[in-house]
Amino acid sequence: MSTVALITGAASGIGAAVARRLSAGGVACVLVDRDAEGVERVGKEVGGAWLVGDVSSEETSSRAVALADERYGRLDLVHLNAGTNGGVDMSAFDPERYRTVMGINTDSVVYGVAAALPLLKRSGGGSVVVTSSLAGLVGFGLDPIYSMSKHAVIGLVRALVEPLAGAAVKIGAVCPGFTDTPLIAPARDMLIEAGLPMLTPDEVAAAVDSLFHAETSGTVLVVQSGMEPTPYHHA
Ligand code: NAD
Repeated sequence: MSTVALITGAASGIGAAVARRLSAGGVACVLVDRDAEGVERVGKEVGGAWLVGDVSSEETSSRAVALADERYGRLDLVHLNAGTNGGVDMSAFDPERYRTVMGINTDSVVYGVAAALPLLKRSGGGSVVVTSSLAGLVGFGLDPIYSMSKHAVIGLVRALVEPLAGAAVKIGAVCPGFTDTPLIAPARDMLIEAGLPMLTPDEVAAAVDSLFHAETSGTVLVVQSGMEPTPYHHA
């Protein structure tokens, strides 16, 4: 029986790179994204199953896990990756954005873990990776609300190590620096002009894959361009 992975935000960027990497290694993938065209395209490319849905709604996580169960009868790896920086104006410290950003970047992780846990347990355990960010480790003044949401998920990852251990489920967080994806397209020229190095989605996918197989639960892995991934903290 092959390994089965669930990946959110899989229509683009880091999530799509993880889906391609895992499927190339023989993992069956269930992809989730609100971008219907994109998730269908990547789903067909990797020969997996896909679901169109908004991860800030609890129902999307339940439907995604049900799809994994129906299609493959098990679940081993979960990449809770979908995220937003709330729009093109990264400088906005706007309370109206707060619920949207937290819903997508933070609520979705709570819903994702809760929905996946019973099937992971039934499958004999597994591994969950959450995409945080360097902005989850240091204050990112260009987008304080985004930075808060990414700090929050690291707190959740650390706090879940013990409760998940009994179910043989490991959890970790990946913290990429700037990565060349559509998410940061509005800032791309500025970053290049400033000479700031950018990661490729494939580099981040390699780090996610290594986290899935980390021996230690609670690892927070920093990935920066031109550097080997660095474990930031072991719980
Ligand atoms: P991306 O825009 O290429 O991909 C994000 C995907 O998430 C998109 O396909 C989008 O449709 C999906 N998505 C967004 N909101 C959703 C929702 N409510 N429901 C379902 N799907 C939704 O961007 P990316 O850079 O690959 O982002 C992936 C993750 O990496 C995000 O959590 C982001 O915060 C994080 N991250 C990105 C960078 C970077 O520089 N690109 C750096 C650190 C962390």
